[in-house]
Amino acid sequence: MVSSGFRATLLKLGLEEERLAVLEGKGGIVEDEFEGIRYVRFRDSARGFRRGTVVFENGDVVPGFPHIKRIVQLENGVRRVFKGEPFYVEEKVDGYNVRVVKVGRRILALTRGGFVCPFTTERILDFVDEGFFRDYPDLVLVGEMAGPESPYIVEGPPYVEGDIRFFLFDIQEKGTGKSLPAEERYDLARKYGIPHVEVFGLYDSSRIDDLRGLIERLSREGREGIVMKSPDMRRIAKYVTPYANVNDVRIGSRIFFDLPHGYFMARIKRLAFYFAERHLRGEEFDEYAKALGKALLGPFVESIHEVASGGEVEEVFTVRVKNIGTAYRMVAHFERLGVRIHIEDIEDLKNGYWRITFKRVYPDATREMRELWNGRAF
Ligand code: ATP
Repeated sequence: MVSSGFRATLLKLGLEEERLAVLEGKGGIVEDEFEGIRYVRFRDSARGFRRGTVVFENGDVVPGFPHIKRIVQLENGVRRVFKGEPFYVEEKVDGYNVRVVKVGRRILALTRGGFVCPFTTERILDFVDEGFFRDYPDLVLVGEMAGPESPYIVEGPPYVEGDIRFFLFDIQEKGTGKSLPAEERYDLARKYGIPHVEVFGLYDSSRIDDLRGLIERLSREGREGIVMKSPDMRRIAKYVTPYANVNDVRIGSRIFFDLPHGYFMARIKRLAFYFAERHLRGEEFDEYAKALGKALLGPFVESIHEVASGGEVEEVFTVRVKNIGTAYRMVAHFERLGVRIHIEDIEDLKNGYWRITFKRVYPDATREMRELWNGRAF
């Protein structure tokens, strides 16, 4: 149940009484707390409130980050979305989405689902100048946290060595969620020294060959893809590299039983459209086909062996924190997400940081594999 204080705030923001009751009934809206700061997060969308929207006690609203449309046929997709108008091309950085916001005197980092993330909140001022929020308390910095030491993502981009980094890609208004025009964001990032995703420049549909060349290069460099944005941020589309599609399959196949089949199908579909658009055949086609097959089967078979010899399907990841308490808060945070993790190791890096090693176990995937290995008929 949402407490009476929040009820009043939500009604004032325009959520109707009946709507609120329905949402509460099905757990679509949940009240939460982070270090004494109370907030409500939307697990489902409701009129005017996107999934992932967070409402704080002081009435601050941080809208959920919207879905970005994906194109799988680059040339036709670009034509259709941008209709001949120019667009900026930015790198799509492979990490996890955070919205950074000042609420009262605290700077908080929110996950896509609308949780205050204890880890990201502790680390965010390592990357973002607090001065920005003194000047713009009503703006939200939206970016990707990416690197090899991430609590949510198995791998980081190739150019982030150790630890994790923040990459800005959007600035939105609290309340409305309206994005600042791209150029204004580029200027603010420069002015406040906020690290930004790489911007590859202004393109239009007449430069499709250059765009293809860019995709080929990013793919060779092991990077995820691009997000194209009209300067006013009204039209946005994403396109991922063939490398990222194969790599996602490779990462996912270790935990095959824990992912919906659609995860794999979507990536195979994207690759098929890439092959078709590029008319890939011969050696190049064979190479990709082999890479995809290996990505799909290799880690899957390895994890069956692991379970068959008494092990579990598990993942080990490390993060750097300033306080060990943050590591325990992450364990509790994952528990609320329905995920079981535990701390394996704590190492003092002697520079003000601790390196924490977590282990995540996949009990359902392990059970399923064990059963099948042990001969269950189905
Ligand atoms: P959705 O399709 O709802 O956007 P998703 O998780 O299925 O979400 P992704 O393939 O992860 O889709 O792509 C969208 C995400 O890409 C964004 O939520 C954002 O976190 C991330 N991203 C990385 N770089 C950028 C960028 N330059 N511009 C916008 N988003 C970016």
